[in-house]
Amino acid sequence: MIPYSRQNINNEDIESVIDVLKSDYITQGNIINKFEDAVAKKVNSSYSYAMNSATSALHISCLALGLNSDDILWTVPNSFVASANCGLYCGAKVDFVDINPISFNISLNALSDKLIKAKKTNSLPKIVVTVDFSGQPVEQEAIKSLSIEYGFYIIEDASHAIGAKRNNNMVGCNMFSDITVFSFHPVKIVTTAEGGMALTQNKEIAEKIDLLRGHGITKNYKNYEKKIDEHWYYEQQYLGYNYRLSEVHSALGLSQLNRLDEFIGYRNNVAKIYDKLLNDLPIQLPNIESVNYSSFHLYVIRLKLDKIKKSYNEIFNGLRNNGIGVNLHYLPIHLHPFYRSIGFKVGDFPESEKYSNEAISLPIFFELKEEEQDYIYKKLKDLLIT
Ligand SMILES: *Cc1c(COP(=O)(O)O)cnc(C)c1O
Repeated sequence: MIPYSRQNINNEDIESVIDVLKSDYITQGNIINKFEDAVAKKVNSSYSYAMNSATSALHISCLALGLNSDDILWTVPNSFVASANCGLYCGAKVDFVDINPISFNISLNALSDKLIKAKKTNSLPKIVVTVDFSGQPVEQEAIKSLSIEYGFYIIEDASHAIGAKRNNNMVGCNMFSDITVFSFHPVKIVTTAEGGMALTQNKEIAEKIDLLRGHGITKNYKNYEKKIDEHWYYEQQYLGYNYRLSEVHSALGLSQLNRLDEFIGYRNNVAKIYDKLLNDLPIQLPNIESVNYSSFHLYVIRLKLDKIKKSYNEIFNGLRNNGIGVNLHYLPIHLHPFYRSIGFKVGDFPESEKYSNEAISLPIFFELKEEEQDYIYKKLKDLLIT
């Protein structure tokens, strides 16, 4: 089976992990700081905190922005459930904004309309989580203008988009977001096995994130409430969590980061080859805005079902039966049984629902071969036009 994504681990990655295993510190050493600094430098952010997953980083980001049970968080239905769950972890109410059918990212029109209505009913969100879907950056500068007008924070869930750029600004620079989150799960662009990171330009938010990912404990005298300057002393100031990333995982991430540009260059080349191969088929190909450089975490095609004799399932299963590990990103979050149980239903977000009935993620990863792409093209063509 050709998977839709997979990690690429080389000897340098392996050596760097072995070095840590032979060292004194396999957690809470200084490799995590090196990894954090390297990511921050790469994407032009000031503060960066590695955690054991992007899900943890999203949770801590919400807490650091003060989200609680009086608040509302909005995100898009077309994402992994973690983009919404993070709000529920904090006791907040979660709602969704529909997507743009071309970019598959948040719809600016839907967001503006929903904000106008929410202002009238006094139900504005405290946080909007935008998602750089498939690696294509969101129109974040427009969202930022709305955030100033309506007074909400922006968390950019860039789990797909480390290394992507918009108007030549790196995703993660936080020019138009309060916090950006990356994921280092093996299907993502670079991996730490499990892992994530939250980045910000705001010192106050940064200090809060740092505390909350480590039990809410500070060991820094200058921040103590009680001025006890003794080696045995530390203070828990908030209810935090143990969401730290180990030295072993950090070493893998630091080593992987050396190849970020290579990984993304390769993925863009795979996308270019698909664009050419698939051009004549009854499908909508990815539309990357000219000001965007996508990291191409995903290559999503949308079937034009009115021009195809077969059903979605026949095509999806046909590809799987031919050893092509296609996937759906995403079943809309609000249609999962859990979200239905808290009141969402079919018809709530029609663009996301229509999209999910037509979308297929084709394999894309570092070292996917051109022969494999040819094979995928041929099988897809057979299924689509017979
Ligand atoms: C993968 C992913 C996450 C969660 O990442 P983990 O590191 O597995 O917790 C969150 N949001 C999006 C959009 C993702 O793709």
